[in-house]
Amino acid sequence: MNTPSNPLLDFSGLPRFEEINTTHITPAIEALISENKSIIDGIRNDPQTPTWQSFVQPMVDANERLSRAWGQVSHLNAVMNTPELREVYNKNLPLITQFYAELSQDQRLFEKFKQLRASAEFDMLSPARKKIVENELRDFRLGGAELPSEKKQRFLKIQENLSALSSKFNDNLLDATNAFSLLIEDSDEVTGIPEDVLHTARQLAEKESKKGWKFTLHMPSYLPIQQYAENRTLREKMYHAFYTRASEFNQPDGESGEKNWDNMPLISRILELREEEAKLLGYQNYAEVSLAAKMASEPRQVLDFLGELAAKAKPYAERDLQELQQFAAESLNLPKLEAWDIPYASEKLRQARYAFSDQEVKQYFPEDKVLPGMFKLVEALYRISIVPADSIELGQTVQYWHSDVKLFDIFDASGDLIGRFYVDLYARETKRGGAWMDGAIARRRIDCEQGGHVVQIPVAYLTCNFSGPVSINGQQRPALFTHNEVIVLFHEFGHGLHHLLTQVDDLSVSGINGVEWDAVELPSQFMENFCWEWDVLTEMTQHIDTGESLPRALFDKMLAAKNFQSGMQMVRQIEFALFDMHLHYDFDPHGDKSVLQLIDEVRQEVAVIFPPAYNRFPNSFAHIFGGGYAAGYYSYKWAEVLSADAYGLFEENALNNPSGVMDADTGSRFRDEILAMGGSRPALESFVAFRGREPQMDALLRHNGMTA
Ligand SMILES: [Zn+2]
Repeated sequence: MNTPSNPLLDFSGLPRFEEINTTHITPAIEALISENKSIIDGIRNDPQTPTWQSFVQPMVDANERLSRAWGQVSHLNAVMNTPELREVYNKNLPLITQFYAELSQDQRLFEKFKQLRASAEFDMLSPARKKIVENELRDFRLGGAELPSEKKQRFLKIQENLSALSSKFNDNLLDATNAFSLLIEDSDEVTGIPEDVLHTARQLAEKESKKGWKFTLHMPSYLPIQQYAENRTLREKMYHAFYTRASEFNQPDGESGEKNWDNMPLISRILELREEEAKLLGYQNYAEVSLAAKMASEPRQVLDFLGELAAKAKPYAERDLQELQQFAAESLNLPKLEAWDIPYASEKLRQARYAFSDQEVKQYFPEDKVLPGMFKLVEALYRISIVPADSIELGQTVQYWHSDVKLFDIFDASGDLIGRFYVDLYARETKRGGAWMDGAIARRRIDCEQGGHVVQIPVAYLTCNFSGPVSINGQQRPALFTHNEVIVLFHEFGHGLHHLLTQVDDLSVSGINGVEWDAVELPSQFMENFCWEWDVLTEMTQHIDTGESLPRALFDKMLAAKNFQSGMQMVRQIEFALFDMHLHYDFDPHGDKSVLQLIDEVRQEVAVIFPPAYNRFPNSFAHIFGGGYAAGYYSYKWAEVLSADAYGLFEENALNNPSGVMDADTGSRFRDEILAMGGSRPALESFVAFRGREPQMDALLRHNGMTA
């Protein structure tokens, strides 16, 4: 077989990153889209009864080629961004979006899936393939495919309006955030604010040829002021500005009507349209639509879950607040805590109680100890081995996008290669912020024409933004990670293992594919727990100068600080989740009760902190009005319960096990029942198969220090 000259059209192995340049992108994407269109056209017009082989498989193959090629482009755009690449990326993005949008609206493909579902072949399909067909049918229905044409018109119109309203919501919020700034000239008024924050604020002022410091409502400026500024009036001013963004109190100067930033009318309209959409699809409310593809089965179940968690957490939140009030009154001369005092007093209390710094901890976590330590842990848990990949594979040199990147191979107990992953850890200018895992190639079984089959080995990207190695006095020192960065690394590696240790043969439900949205964080949050295990940490720490592993006393302080104010934090998350669920379940957007009254009611039920009357938090709740979290905010807590409870079994089994939580038997069970199964069966079934029962919240409460 010839190697294609356009590296993006080569699907024979690992991506050829060093050969890809921007001129390859548009021709490859155009060729693949047009090829896919003609394949799909052929399938659509095939008069035969659809079968897996004649209908589903060719579509999966075609889509895989496009998504692998585009995946390489998006990956490079995220980790090696240049103006040229960004331009080509943005030019091709609408083509991709449109291609998939048309596919999801295709009536004839929907009919074919229905025929396959009704055919005799369906009963013979593997559970994974059955699940894929059911998922397709569900998604077509949720996309309005089953509606009569007149209602379909309305449905599409609603979706169009909703997407415009969401984008307007985000624009208003961004404009309102950007429009505010506060200039302070008197140095007495900025006492307590950290040096680096002041430095940035001074630069902002200098840019406008002004003296003093310019503060904004962006997080890196707003948050440290709330936490550190001694100046109470400054904190209050900033708080007021922050929590009235995009509300009736916050309009562009000297303009009226046309440029209105108030998000409240948009919220009402969004809720009305979501309700109408739900009714069109035959559901009672939008919450049911949102849950149709999630692990939680119905809104009532989510409300009960949140209610129970709130009841358990609230006494701890009350205790947290009481401690804070007492400390503030005695040590800070703040007898009455206002909303803008809480982060400030909390930070002071945290420092008084747990005197250690991130810098101090960081000295114990060099990369050359952390990464091997993490690998050693999962090698023990899952009976695998992880080794740096050979630089030559199948006669071809492995190609990287940057010299910092490394490739690792995973072998199972019998020595077979089962997965590979790239690690790209350090921040650089060309890389998008944050940390993430992404699949480059997904596992699947490919049947050969001559009979037999091959397994396509999954490949993942692990990307972080940590600070890299530094050279001091000409000596190279390894990168040092904060404990929080180590947690981030474990989290993303957990997603990676979900993608890499799958045993599913069909692409659409292998690894993370097809996993319910409220369960997808289980394997990642699960991994975080190990970062709080003494036995794990002693193996993966070594002071950069003294060579000592993490001292027990420092670890104990870290552990105590971990649960600082966990009660207050938990009820706050529950407040948002309950508000979101009620809004989309039993709140009437046409009724007398306002959105603000609803959030007040929720607060009366679960909160311990009550903000001032002018607080317009809903107007900036972009997760649910400007993003994809509507009737889904509960997922954060839901997945935490799953991951904590799964980890609970390791803790239980550790009691009579010499290797403690690093137990290969429990690990293999986790690997087989959860990681290996991917989206091939409902997440609840996988969980029960692993845990032996349905999820319970005790472990989460215990991990948060909420036990009597
Ligand atoms: Zn995650």
